[in-house]
Amino acid sequence: MSKFGFKLVDQHQIKDIKAEAFVYEHEKSGARLLHLQNDDDNKVFSVAFRTPPTDSTGVPHIIEHCVLSGSRKYKTKEPFMDMVKGSLKTFINAMTFSDKTIYPVASRNEKDFTNLMDVYLDSVFFPMIHEEKEIFMQEGWHHSIEKMEEPLKYNGVVYNEMRGAYSQPTTLLRENIGKSLYPDTTYQHSSGGNPDHITDLTFEDFKKFHEDHYHPSNAYIYVYGNGDIEKYMKHMDEDYLSHFDKTEVHTTIEKQAAFNKVNYVNSTYGIAAEENEDHKTFFSMNFVTGEGTDPRAHLVGEVLKDILVNSAAGPVKKALLDAGIGQDIMGSFDGGLQLNLSIIAKNANKDQKEAFETVVMDTLKSLVKDGIDKNLIESAINIAEYDMREATGFATKGIIYHILSMNTWLYEGHPTELIAYEEEIKALRELSQTDYFEKYIETHLINNTHASVVSLKPEKGLGEKKTMEDEAKLKAFKENLSEETLQVMIKENEALKKKQLSPDSKEALDTIPKLAVSDVDKESENIPREVIENKDYKIIKHDIFSNDIGYVEFLFDTTMIKQEDIQYIPLLTGLIGKMDTTHMDYGTLNNEIYKLTGGISLSSRTYTDTNSTDFYPKLIVSGKAVSNKLNELFRLTNVLLTETKFEDTKRLKELLLQSKSRMEMSINNRGDNYAASRLASYFLPSSHYGELLKGFEYYWFLGDLIEKCDEDADAVLSKLTELYKVLFNKNNLMISFTGDQTSYDIFEKYHQEALVNINTNTFESQTYAFELEIKNEGIASSSNVQYVAQGFNFKALDYKYKGQMQVLKAILSSEYLHDRIRAKGGAYGCGISFSDNGNVIATSYRDPNLEATMSVFDEMADSIDELTLDQDALTRFVIGAISRLDGAMTSRGKGTLSSANYISGITQELIQEERDEILSVTIEDLKGLSKLVREMMDKGYYCVYGNDVKIKETKDIFKSIKMLNN
Ligand SMILES: [Zn+2]
Repeated sequence: MSKFGFKLVDQHQIKDIKAEAFVYEHEKSGARLLHLQNDDDNKVFSVAFRTPPTDSTGVPHIIEHCVLSGSRKYKTKEPFMDMVKGSLKTFINAMTFSDKTIYPVASRNEKDFTNLMDVYLDSVFFPMIHEEKEIFMQEGWHHSIEKMEEPLKYNGVVYNEMRGAYSQPTTLLRENIGKSLYPDTTYQHSSGGNPDHITDLTFEDFKKFHEDHYHPSNAYIYVYGNGDIEKYMKHMDEDYLSHFDKTEVHTTIEKQAAFNKVNYVNSTYGIAAEENEDHKTFFSMNFVTGEGTDPRAHLVGEVLKDILVNSAAGPVKKALLDAGIGQDIMGSFDGGLQLNLSIIAKNANKDQKEAFETVVMDTLKSLVKDGIDKNLIESAINIAEYDMREATGFATKGIIYHILSMNTWLYEGHPTELIAYEEEIKALRELSQTDYFEKYIETHLINNTHASVVSLKPEKGLGEKKTMEDEAKLKAFKENLSEETLQVMIKENEALKKKQLSPDSKEALDTIPKLAVSDVDKESENIPREVIENKDYKIIKHDIFSNDIGYVEFLFDTTMIKQEDIQYIPLLTGLIGKMDTTHMDYGTLNNEIYKLTGGISLSSRTYTDTNSTDFYPKLIVSGKAVSNKLNELFRLTNVLLTETKFEDTKRLKELLLQSKSRMEMSINNRGDNYAASRLASYFLPSSHYGELLKGFEYYWFLGDLIEKCDEDADAVLSKLTELYKVLFNKNNLMISFTGDQTSYDIFEKYHQEALVNINTNTFESQTYAFELEIKNEGIASSSNVQYVAQGFNFKALDYKYKGQMQVLKAILSSEYLHDRIRAKGGAYGCGISFSDNGNVIATSYRDPNLEATMSVFDEMADSIDELTLDQDALTRFVIGAISRLDGAMTSRGKGTLSSANYISGITQELIQEERDEILSVTIEDLKGLSKLVREMMDKGYYCVYGNDVKIKETKDIFKSIKMLNN
């Protein structure tokens, strides 16, 4: 039977996600289609292609950026950005993997969903990239030059994105792992692009890659949810697929033949010239463990990664830390056609390679000989089960199922095998009663020679050396160019700049599908909330369906902590649950927690009052469990809150080093957030508090504390013990519960078990007096790019928060800032935020520039004065702003948000008011905000995190320069 040219190939039920799966083939074009039909209204559409690279120019990644920049039907500069601005999407993105490129969108609104689907189909099959070279120049790379006498430079969005990525040792490590295990296949290459090779890519090869790969015969189409599939099939067939004839595509991925001995690979990464080289080497031991089409190999790999390394009780992690090899030990499990498991020691020393290898191997051998703790296996399987049940906590579940389907489908496996997980988990639970895992380790790790050891060592000044080499290369290249050629380049640059800075025409904009304000709900969602006053504390109850899982947050006010001790609060949250307790060592405790519950974690958060500059700092203990295990959740929570022992100095140091190492990684990933947090700490007390808890300040505190531990660890431990005893108190407690009534009844019956023996003394709240100071700092590291933050607080100048600001935010971020900082400047990202606490902060992300970006921020208010928008354009931004308010949320996310609103005093009326202000915004309202934005930027308050050489070159603009590390 065939419908709209699609032949049904397979149909079956997937109980696990209450869906019916249909697999089709489009007979004329050869396109494949997977349809997962269920009652989820958060519908997902995606089209994916097999795109294995044959070099490291990043051609698949550059195409991913470029196809969304104009197509046959959609004629603006970036239809993708227009849909980001003006659709009701719950997800919109495109991602390049090592061997595939996927284009997923999601929406709850039927009209919006079909609009998004059509923009994506037209973009991938009929993009403008063949006609307009400027797209390639802007998104990929180009020689940038404005005047004859200027030196040539490289610029381009992907080029800078990857320069940022390649300044992170973890990216380089991943690249080297691929190269070491698959030296003869596509996985030796970087699909994202190595900056040293991106500039080898020609426009011709770029176009050819699109022609060869973006054909329906190489396409994997995915539709998920409760939509009208026949309507979508008809549309796909008539407008796209029937225009193509089935063809043979040459995208088959070859398997790497196994090695007969372990492969050793050594490489280096750059650190700043002033940094020392101690504890900066990375080692990884990597094993090819199975085939991508084998569901069991996937599950076992995931579970084994937790058993060996990622669990706090992981024996390999423990052995490496005990041997003093590395400060953070991590496991990763990845792969494509073949799967690989890696054991990674971060922040080790250069001379520890042999020791690393010996410790890993000896530990594996002793596990095979003595057997693995069954509780550890059970807890790891349980983690895998929660991950599947909650779709890894991702609100748009259909996206996760899409990625899972591609993990087998791309290699001719069945597309739903990893989505149906229950049977596999059950089978693995039974096998775990035998010596299955021990045997697996023996054959797939110990006796497996398709393995590698990668060492990545630091090299001082490598970044500067590379920059100099690039400059010399560009200089020599320029010297060989004729004046005519240079004139052509200058003209091309001019044309590019002109295109980047000129707005889309009315005709072009009219091609973009629109929604009307009437397509949007006028009313804000009202998350069910009931506040129950108990004798000692309040319970905030959210009666929401959550698949039989109860989510509980114990929120302890921390204002009794003295100002000088504030930074011990995040420290405590990082230690509790990972230190020994009175009756259990930390490994046993960890196994108990994950065997019986979905986990318990601690965090700290500062809630700001919506009507004042007051703030409410809380320490939060969050846990989850299926209903009939909630009693265990509370028993174990009580152990954490009352029985933790701060005695083990060795363990303390291990955890401090691990936190610091993870934080460094996070700084390099989200430098914009850290720069913005630092900046806000200059002028707003609650932000200052937040910086102490989570910003650069906390990173440096950890560094100092590690040194202090070497001198006087007992002082640190006794401080922790002192604070631990006062922090958990029934008088400073509030509890948030999310789940259905059945779970709540069980919660109500048992939750007091979590509070047995905790403090009931009265306590005094401290008044914090922070010394606020405008520091305008440059924070320098070996990062290849900058993260610039500039702004101020409008409440300090007596302005009030208004919903209209969210519309202005969208306009500035996606037009003024986007055109100048991303399209023209080449930064990977940029934006501005308006918070209800009054902070207005503009930021750039992976930015090659510094002062030029600040000039863009300085002139932002002028662009508001000159703003011209017709009603259609304004409506687009209104819809986009509403879609951000209405983003998809998990049950747990809803509960957390509702509790935060309650604490901050954000009422349903205020939420509705913000929505009404957005829906009724006029162009005059927006222009009226230019004065505020001008005052914010004219203050000249900023903080920059970025490349040490660049920051030192511009040292005059900073009041002080600090190195991230010394
Ligand atoms: Zn990208």
